[in-house]
Amino acid sequence: MTRRRLVLTLAIALVGLQAGAAPRAKAPKNVILLIGDGMGFAQTTLGRIALGTNDATLRLDSMSHGGMVKTYPLDTPDKRVVITDSAAAATALATGHKTKNGMIAMLPDGAKLKTVLEAAQDKGKRVGLVTTVTISHATPAGFGAHVPSRGQETDIAAQYLDRKIDVLLGGGEAMFVPQSVAGSKRKDDRDLLAEARRLGYTVARTKDEMDRVHSGKILGLFAMEAMKTEPPEPSLAEMTAKALDLLGSNKNGFFLMSEGGQIDWGSHANNGPMTVKQMLDFDAAIGVALDFARKRGDTLVVLTADHETGGLALVGATAGTTAPYSMAWGSKGHSATVVPLLADGPGAELFSGVLNNTDIPKRIAKLMGLNLN
Ligand SMILES: [Zn+2]
Repeated sequence: MTRRRLVLTLAIALVGLQAGAAPRAKAPKNVILLIGDGMGFAQTTLGRIALGTNDATLRLDSMSHGGMVKTYPLDTPDKRVVITDSAAAATALATGHKTKNGMIAMLPDGAKLKTVLEAAQDKGKRVGLVTTVTISHATPAGFGAHVPSRGQETDIAAQYLDRKIDVLLGGGEAMFVPQSVAGSKRKDDRDLLAEARRLGYTVARTKDEMDRVHSGKILGLFAMEAMKTEPPEPSLAEMTAKALDLLGSNKNGFFLMSEGGQIDWGSHANNGPMTVKQMLDFDAAIGVALDFARKRGDTLVVLTADHETGGLALVGATAGTTAPYSMAWGSKGHSATVVPLLADGPGAELFSGVLNNTDIPKRIAKLMGLNLN
């Protein structure tokens, strides 16, 4: 090579380096998507304040990248809609498509939408759903079922088994037991617990039973309806740890969605102490996910919310009290405000800035080489 050609080659290489300045994201083998139902910026601040000092940090504070997420659903034909429910939001976060409030992984015309969980399964990854509400509730349902109405929880439960989702942990046994059982929500005689066992699941109803499972598929239902989120039930952190224990050994990797499902409920009730407890329980689960991911280096953790609930503002204390602040609730419902986005691990840089909720599964799919169509 002549000196002139060498100089030219070097110059081209340098230009090439500059043009490619945006680093190519490293592909994660595993993705953990954490969803705080109803967790707006104020709910995270409330959790931090509750720790007692102004420099206290939540586990989520240590995540390396972040931004905010727009949550609006699809408009109805006659009306603009700016406030989402958990069903449309879960559909967006799972499939990359906006839909009407109330619908689960389906467009208004009834077309089923492929979810990131299903796409991960197609690639040989193991998959799991964890929550503190019923496992058939809107947020997990958006990832593992397709129904026109979120109220069809008994159908959602059956679809999870059809899908052979490897890990299902939460509440909602009422959706799985036949109508003859007290408290059942089924309108038929199907016994989904027996069906699950025939499909190879271990069924667990207590923390001890859950702890004894070390391989295979698990269906853990720790309450007839939503969990109480108190011992002797397993905590969200303990369920998330078990899910990671079971999914983490798969050579092809895994996708896990774990939901703090009752931050929303505390905020619907404008109940400060309940919102704080649920926020801190969720943060403990976030810590479990981060510890797992950082030890391995091959796992992306993405954290967001489906929407904010309660229109919570943390404002000056009311006169005559010694508290440093007071909670002002703007609503008993959801609000339209953007919600937090945080990420950590390989590919985390793709989860920064202002994203739409539909961008999140698209970016997860791109990083994992999944086909969402
Ligand atoms: Zn809600």
